[in-house]
Amino acid sequence: MTNTYKYNDNSMITEHFSVSEFRCKCGETHDTIINPELPKKLELLFEKLNCSKIIVNSGYRCPTHSMNVGGSANDFHTKGYAADIVCYDKSGKIISSKKVCCAAQDAGFGGIANIDSTYTATHVDVRTENFWKGDEVKTSSYSVTDDFYKYYDIPKVSENNSKNNSIVARGIDVSEHQGIIDWDKVKTSVDFAILRAGYGKENSQIDKQFERNYSECKRLNIPVGAYWYSYATTADEAKQEAYVFLKVLDGKLFEYPVAFDIEEKLSLANASELCDAFCSEIEKNGYYTAIYSFKNAFENNITSDIKNKYDTFLSHVGIENTDYSGNYGLWQYSWTGRIDGISGDVDLDYAYKDYPTIIKNIGLNGFSKSDNQPEKNTLEKILDHVASIDSKIK
Ligand SMILES: [Zn+2]
Ligand SMILES: [Zn+2]
Repeated sequence: MTNTYKYNDNSMITEHFSVSEFRCKCGETHDTIINPELPKKLELLFEKLNCSKIIVNSGYRCPTHSMNVGGSANDFHTKGYAADIVCYDKSGKIISSKKVCCAAQDAGFGGIANIDSTYTATHVDVRTENFWKGDEVKTSSYSVTDDFYKYYDIPKVSENNSKNNSIVARGIDVSEHQGIIDWDKVKTSVDFAILRAGYGKENSQIDKQFERNYSECKRLNIPVGAYWYSYATTADEAKQEAYVFLKVLDGKLFEYPVAFDIEEKLSLANASELCDAFCSEIEKNGYYTAIYSFKNAFENNITSDIKNKYDTFLSHVGIENTDYSGNYGLWQYSWTGRIDGISGDVDLDYAYKDYPTIIKNIGLNGFSKSDNQPEKNTLEKILDHVASIDSKIK
């Protein structure tokens, strides 16, 4: 799960981070090892803190160098999992590591610690078990807290943009309109992809790139969801569409919701009925279901009982912050995104829930419950989401 780069590789890994920033500083010219989750989560942190830049003081370290700078020969820096960083705000001022620790917690880093008494630098790493929330000024041997907001007494709701701060993953949704996608490239900049599976109620209307997109995402461990573009005008037609969709989904694994895309007929008075007919059929078969549509449709055409029953994949583009007042787990905020590996425009999405954890732990979307034995920390996370998924456990 790590990438190895030649010593003199200066290429960009993500929008704001290049390979050279993670290079070992021992003086030798050996390779650089980077777990791809690290730059990805740093991008998320960049966004949450509204940074102008993040400086990586120490990224990958060979065992010898790690010991020389006070780490150990097998710490997370030597695995390419860790970075010691200093974050700067838009005015160029250093952001206190107290704030960085809180934001890193929201970004889902597995190991986080303040590392100096002036609260300038922060260690973050992407470990996936034995999570650590530390304060190295005090101790490096155990977690000092479960929650940095409490520990540093920082109010959880940020003054500028509370919704942005609860983004847990960034993704794209794609169809055959994106042509043949270079998923190896795409993987470096997205956390997930929602794939169009097809449209309408005929078997032949399967998206031409769906099978390839799906198998590429699986090959590269990119978590995926799926959606079905509906032309239904009656509940019966919506049900027929659901049957075709189920056939396409069968035997596959989806870490993200499978969605009913009702943009085409959203003005119909029976939009709620169509959503329910489709989604209840999909849900009955063990899938985590969402409705995809525009803000306007959620506000005017879909009744609250249906919105409460299924998750919401909100489409509202061209604005910095949506003013949609209902709940939503996914927000499509742009139709004109640019992602390396895709030619032309692509839809960009934010996820506000840790869907892979939720879906695997309930055992939906092809996963069986026993596939995933949750860690204690994971369990706590799940509890936060129980309210929203209650209705899905039958
Ligand atoms: Zn070295
Ligand atoms: Zn460190």
